[in-house]
Amino acid sequence: MGARPLLNRRLDGLGTTIFAEMSALATATGSINLGQGFPDTDGPEEVREAAVRALREGRGNQYPPGPGVPELRTAIADHQRRFHGLDLDPDTEVLVTAGATEAIAASLLALLEPGDEVIAFEPFYDSYAACVAMAGAVRVPLTLRAPSFRPDLDELRALVTPRTRLLLLNSPHNPTGLVLTPDELTAIAELAVERDLLVVTDEVYEHLVFNGAHHPIAALPGMRERTVSISSAGKTFSFTGWKVGWVTAAPELVTAVRTAKQYLTYVSAGPFQYAVAEALRLPDSYFETFRADLRHKRDLLAEGLTAAGFRVFHPEGTYFITTDITPLGEKDGIAFCRTLPTRCGVVAIPNAVFYDDIEAGRPLVRFTFCKKDDVLEEAVARLSRLSPA
Ligand SMILES: *Cc1c(COP(=O)(O)O)cnc(C)c1O
Repeated sequence: MGARPLLNRRLDGLGTTIFAEMSALATATGSINLGQGFPDTDGPEEVREAAVRALREGRGNQYPPGPGVPELRTAIADHQRRFHGLDLDPDTEVLVTAGATEAIAASLLALLEPGDEVIAFEPFYDSYAACVAMAGAVRVPLTLRAPSFRPDLDELRALVTPRTRLLLLNSPHNPTGLVLTPDELTAIAELAVERDLLVVTDEVYEHLVFNGAHHPIAALPGMRERTVSISSAGKTFSFTGWKVGWVTAAPELVTAVRTAKQYLTYVSAGPFQYAVAEALRLPDSYFETFRADLRHKRDLLAEGLTAAGFRVFHPEGTYFITTDITPLGEKDGIAFCRTLPTRCGVVAIPNAVFYDDIEAGRPLVRFTFCKKDDVLEEAVARLSRLSPA
C-alpha cells in the first residue's frame, strides 16, 4: 500500500470516539456507565406499540419518502407550533433525518465550502469537529469557561471574519448544561444578521430545560431565512436507538440539506417514523413528567457528586453534569476517567476531549444522570469511596 496513510487528512486526529473507548472500559470492568448519554429505561409504552403496529401493518417497511413520511413531517410542524410558536410548511420546511447526527452532517456538508470558517462553542459535541472537517471547513472555537460556561459575546463578535460562514449553536448545551438566555440569543441573532451568517442550531435537549424554557433562535427577527434547526426523538422520548431526527428551516435551506442527506442515508427508520409522529402528539403531561423526572435525577447526582468531593456545576438543561475534579486532588480528567472504572467501578467522560483548548477542559469530567435512581445511588456510593489522591 506504500507509505501513504489510509485515513485522509481531513479525518486525521479524529480517532475513535471517546464513547466507544469508555463504554468498552465499562463493559470490561463491569462498571456503572455514566459516560455515554443513553437512558437505561425505554420511552413510553404506547410509542413502542405504535412502532410495532406500523411494522405489522407494513407501514414504512419499504423505503419511505425521501423527506420523511407525511404523518411525521406534519407532526413535527405541529410540535414546532405547539411548543415554540413557529409556523412551518410540512412539505417544504421539514426534513426527517437519521437522527440529529445525520442532520448535522448533511447541514454542514451542504452549506459549507472548503475553507469556510465555522464558529462553535467548545466543548463541542463530538460530531461537530468531524463534520466540519469532512466539509473541508475550519472550526473556530468560542471557549465556554467554568464556572458559568456563559459565552463571551464580545469574544464571539471578535471571532467573526470575512471567511466566517456559519455559527453552529447547541442549546441546551452538551456537556456543560448551559441554556442560552433570550438576551444571549438576541445578541447572537443580531450578529448573524449583521454579518450575514448562517446558523445551524442543535436543539436535541429542547425538552430538558430545568429552569425557564427553551427558546429557538429561529423565532427571532431575521433568523427564519438563515437558520437550520435540528432536533431528534432520541433524547426527548428515550429511544436513542431509533435514530429519528429532523431539520426545520426555510425551503431553500431544507432543499440544500436534503441534497446532501439523500446521498448519505437516502432514508431510514421507516416504521419508527410513524411511531415518532405519535410521540410528538403526546399530551403536555408527558413532557412535564419527563422533565420533572430528569430534574430529580439531576439533583440526586449533583448532591452525591458534591458529597463525594467533586465541584459540581449545576446544569440548566440536558442530562449531563460537568464537574471539576481539582478538589479531589486530581488535575487531569483524561487520566482520571481512564482509572476511575478500576478505582471505583464508575465510568465518566473527560470534557477535555471536547475542547481544542485542552487546558480549559483539563480538570473537567462529565457524568450523565439519565439512569435509574438506584443506579445513580449506587454510582454515588461508589464515588464517595474515592479518597483524595
Ligand atoms: C445525542 C446528541 C446528538 C445526536 O442525536 P441523535 O438523534 O442520536 O443522532 C446530537 N447533538 C447532541 C448535542 C447530542 O447530545
